Amino acid sequence: MSKGVVIVTGAGRGIGRSCAIMAAARGHAVVVNYASNAAAADEVVAAITGAGGQAVAVKGDVAVEQDVLAIFAAADKLGTLAGLINNAGVVDQKSRVDQFSAARLTRMMAINVVGSILCAREAVRRMSTAHGGKGGTIVNMGSVASVLGSPNEFVDYAASKGAIDSFTIGLAKEVAAEGIRVNAVRPGLIDTEIHASAGVPDRVERFRDLIPMKRGGSADEVAAAVLWLMSDEASYTTGTTITVSGGR
Ligand code: NAP
Repeated sequence: MSKGVVIVTGAGRGIGRSCAIMAAARGHAVVVNYASNAAAADEVVAAITGAGGQAVAVKGDVAVEQDVLAIFAAADKLGTLAGLINNAGVVDQKSRVDQFSAARLTRMMAINVVGSILCAREAVRRMSTAHGGKGGTIVNMGSVASVLGSPNEFVDYAASKGAIDSFTIGLAKEVAAEGIRVNAVRPGLIDTEIHASAGVPDRVERFRDLIPMKRGGSADEVAAAVLWLMSDEASYTTGTTITVSGGR
């Protein structure tokens, strides 16, 4: 018997993949959202169903409202929504602010900020007791970049994650009396393919000496914090952020 449906955005690879597999292992039916890599998402679904769980892959760009509505419609077909893991996010090539294009900024904010807020909106419409829902949890994916600032690399990305920090606090207070807990996880350097998309595939190795624990983190180590925040063990925890960064 499912413990309710959890949507994980950007779940085909990296941290989202780990979150999806861990959520399924804890009894949730999972919507595995992805942007374009269908093979990767299908592999996550196969891993979940092969272990006896329930999952569907749903293509959709979180920055596009119609796609967000389709992702949530797919979740509605699976059952009652119990949680949203707002994980999808992008970086861009290393650049100074004085070199940024408007197109880069628009894309970054549309996916990392607008996408997360649109998905949260749909989750609240389904889970809030004010809308006839049964409550639930939302976990947003921040980054230590929001407090470090990422100078000379991607200050725009850091700023987008700063928005996630503020959004987490505000939405948590807004829906706290409506059965929904809202928290965030702030990963440090985690070993995923996101660094290759920024043109620095060896980023974790390159910066490991800056990490007090002298190693990058794994996607599973981030997912463990996410799933704890979603669990009943965190029943009095809302509006907070857990940093998973090896001490950075
Ligand atoms: P990743 O390995 O690059 O995977 C990104 C996932 O997001 C993929 O499944 C991708 O889909 C999906 N995605 C990208 N754009 C999307 C969109 N517009 N709509 C829906 N899905 C989209 O990334 P990651 O390292 O796991 O990062 C996941 C989250 O953690 C992000 O929010 C990131 O900012 C945050 N984070 C990561 C680190 C780190 O060091 N890795 C550190 C701090 C924070 P496709 O597979 O179809 O491309």
